[in-house]
This record gives sequence, structure tokens and C-alpha cells, in this order.
Amino acid sequence: MTPFAEFRKQAGYDLVGVPPMACFDGLPPNEHPLSIFPDAKSVIVVGSRIKRGQFRSMEEGSLWSTPARWMTGFEGLVRMIEREGYECVPYSPADAPKMPRRPVRPGLCAPNGVRLSIDYAAVAAGLGEIGYHGIFMSARFGIRQTLGLVLTDMEIEPGSSEEKSTGICDGCMACVQACPLQAISGTVSGSFTANGRTMTLAAINARACQACPNGAAGDSKYFAGAEELHFEIENNQVKGDKSVFARGGLPNRLAAACGRACIAHFEATHDTGYKIPFRVREPWGLRPDQPRGF
Ligand code: SF4
Ligand code: SF4
Repeated sequence: MTPFAEFRKQAGYDLVGVPPMACFDGLPPNEHPLSIFPDAKSVIVVGSRIKRGQFRSMEEGSLWSTPARWMTGFEGLVRMIEREGYECVPYSPADAPKMPRRPVRPGLCAPNGVRLSIDYAAVAAGLGEIGYHGIFMSARFGIRQTLGLVLTDMEIEPGSSEEKSTGICDGCMACVQACPLQAISGTVSGSFTANGRTMTLAAINARACQACPNGAAGDSKYFAGAEELHFEIENNQVKGDKSVFARGGLPNRLAAACGRACIAHFEATHDTGYKIPFRVREPWGLRPDQPRGF
């Protein structure tokens, strides 16, 4: 088995985590990593810090540039693992054209039906937690990272590059207050459990987020939000929930008003090394039903 410390050094990402395979026990086949690579021995989650400047133009309301929440290129990592003689399967929430909608063999999942939760694996690996707003947070970068997942038949000792992975979201409710559409409930919440750790997540009006003009971005219709995998969703609502709040169908909200409020709060409470604060002007916020013009 490859020692985690040795693997981490070679992997060369800001965040590197290997969750114990047992943490996926009990997940339905379409959420289980072995449904993608049945001979895998390890799941690897990596993260890259997103530079603060990538949020600046959205914070100023000057340019619609949205940082990706999921990584797509793993060239160096795949090459490194393959040099050792192992296979490495990169996972991306895909929406490929002509993907069959039925299993290719009996007993398998349909290819378009396998959707791994990268957030779940990241929390299970000890890289961080899911904040109240439902976005992954690490102790070093807050929400400012893009995450990726690969599977390999290399057996790697489970471990995490992060010393701290709990108590990152302090429940300040800045994300709730910052949403111009009141999409994040300050009072209705649910729980998310990964590898024995449970977090409290707000109920979110996903339909509002889908229409949000404050920096939300659709990135994959098959992977609108990892968290939805751990709630039973029907008609874009938590099954049995009579309220309009749901956790399904969430777009990429890193640069949206909720995400940026969390960045501003994180910067105000942590030393991130920048000379000027992230938030230097009153935040802007629009509603889709607002008349145009001032
Ligand atoms: S803004 Fe505050 S409550 Fe919301 S996720 Fe960030 S730290 Fe948690
Ligand atoms: S994406 Fe937009 S609507 Fe949804 S919680 Fe964030 S700010 Fe509110």
C-alpha cells in the first residue's frame, strides 16, 4: 500500500484526500465509485485553490466570469499514477451526447445514471465540510477551491492533507442575508452525513437559484449539486417536503451573492494573506422580477 504522505507529495495539489473505501458502503450503485471502475482500490479527491481575483469581476458586477467548481483536467496526476503501472480513471460529471440511457450489461447502471458526489467524497476524505449554504468549504480556502475526483487500482493509504476539517462554517448567516431572492432558509434545514460526520445545511429554494442573476452558473445538467444525491428529490423538492425549499437542482453558486458573502466573511475572520479585503464596496444584488433601470 502506498503511504499517504508519499502519495500526497507526488500528487502536487493544494488539497489531497483519500477517503476510506468503506465510507461508500451502503450508497446506491449509481452513487458508488466502483460503478465507474469496478477494480478501483482507492478514490482520490484533489482540490486547487481558486485565486481570489477570479471572483473580483463578479464582486464588482463588471464581468460575468464564474470559476468552475469541478476540475476536468488531471493530466499530471493520471500520468504519475500510470507511470507506476496502475490505471487512473478521472471522473467528471458528464453530459456527453449519445450516452446510452440503458446499462450495457445486466446488473450495471446506465452510463448516464452514475453520478458521484465529489463533495461527499471530499468531506469523507477529511478535506473540509459543507457550509450552511450547501457549498464545500476547506479550512484554508473557504469556498475558494475547485474539486476533482479520480479512481485508481493503486492501493493508497487513506489520509488528508488538511489538519482542520470541522468548524469551518461558523453559522454567521451572511449567506442567508446576502441572497436577494431569499432562497436560503435561515430557519429550515436538513442534515448531511459523510463518513460519520454530520453537518447542518439550509433548505434552499433551488428554483430561485436557477433563475438567480447574481452570479450563479449552470455547469452540468446531470450534476446540478452533489448534495441533492443525499436527499430524495421529486419535482425539484425534498420528497414529502411541502415547502418550496429544496436541495435539488442547484447551479454553481461559488461566485453568486451567497458564495461571495461567504468569501467576504471568511476573509474578515481569517488571515488569507491579501493586502486589501475582498469586499471593499457595498454588495450589489438583483432580483429577476425587478424592473430594469435605476
Ligand atoms: S456565510 Fe457564514 S453561515 Fe453561510 S456558509 Fe459561510 S460561514 Fe457558513
Ligand atoms: S445562487 Fe442566487 S438565489 Fe441562490 S442562494 Fe445564491 S444568491 Fe440566492
